[in-house]
Amino acid sequence: MTPLELKSFIQRRAYELGFNGVGIARVERLDKEADRLRQWLNLGNHGTMSYMENHFEKRVDPAELVPSAKTVISFSFNYHQADIKRKEGSLKIASYAFGRDYHKVLKKKLKILFREIEDIQGKVVGRMFTDSAPVLERQWAAKSGLGWQGKHTLLIHPKKGSWFFLAEIISDLDLPADAPIADHCGTCTRCIDACPTQAISPKGYLLDGSKCISYLTIESKGPIPETFKEKLEDWVFGCDICQDVCPWNRFAKPNQEPDFQPHPDLLSLSRKDWSEMTEERFDELFFATPVKRTRYQGLRRNIDFVD
Ligand code: SF4
Ligand code: SF4
Repeated sequence: MTPLELKSFIQRRAYELGFNGVGIARVERLDKEADRLRQWLNLGNHGTMSYMENHFEKRVDPAELVPSAKTVISFSFNYHQADIKRKEGSLKIASYAFGRDYHKVLKKKLKILFREIEDIQGKVVGRMFTDSAPVLERQWAAKSGLGWQGKHTLLIHPKKGSWFFLAEIISDLDLPADAPIADHCGTCTRCIDACPTQAISPKGYLLDGSKCISYLTIESKGPIPETFKEKLEDWVFGCDICQDVCPWNRFAKPNQEPDFQPHPDLLSLSRKDWSEMTEERFDELFFATPVKRTRYQGLRRNIDFVD
């Protein structure tokens, strides 16, 4: 197969496996992004996520992860829960966490694709990632034309919105690269204005992770600082606000992935059900979902904080 034919095969199979975007970028050290990351870390915007300081070179140079790498193939996977009707006054979790743990779901699909590529191409030196290693996923996805990084710093596609997971294959496959697409945020400031904790800088494109509700309710292990009392707006695991208000998400379509459908009881939980949630109920509802990351004690802390 020619590189172009192989690229078409990868695109076609990725779509058949359920991904909604595929883009390719040539491997290079991300010098500009490295400077921005250094600045972000120096500002302490990573809070207590000290792992963000580790493996700096690996994070900014994929050749440190796969020494013979030529390309980064980025994939997007839709998780949009289009018709969420949460019970009025109930507590909220981010919609990416409704279904099965995406790390497992996406990795399985990437493995299938990787095997099929090797069936055609012979041995490929490469690794697969989905939020699972020091890879600047959004930056690679932006470079390969999967969208632009909006003022909230998430990736947005002009026809698909921003509700997607990202995954990558970094390998020695020599494939034609795609071009980035333009930033369409324009003068919009909806995400900045709507963020209840002012985590997005006033000019956008910079997120103080230590103020983001996702960090406060998932990553941060200690007590949530009292300064955030009344600011979490009933979110107890992650937050969807900046994506909910983004005008580009009017183009988002509901996901079709059976593994990402919510537990039937999840959306009917009342505020009282959340308040009274036991460890057994937590296990039933969140056993295989991203929410298990906080364990019962973490979710309990969050529920008690907002309740
Ligand atoms: S996820 Fe929520 S808290 Fe975090 S930046 Fe977006 S709106 Fe703000
Ligand atoms: S809400 Fe507006 S400013 Fe924020 S990411 Fe979307 S388009 Fe950009």
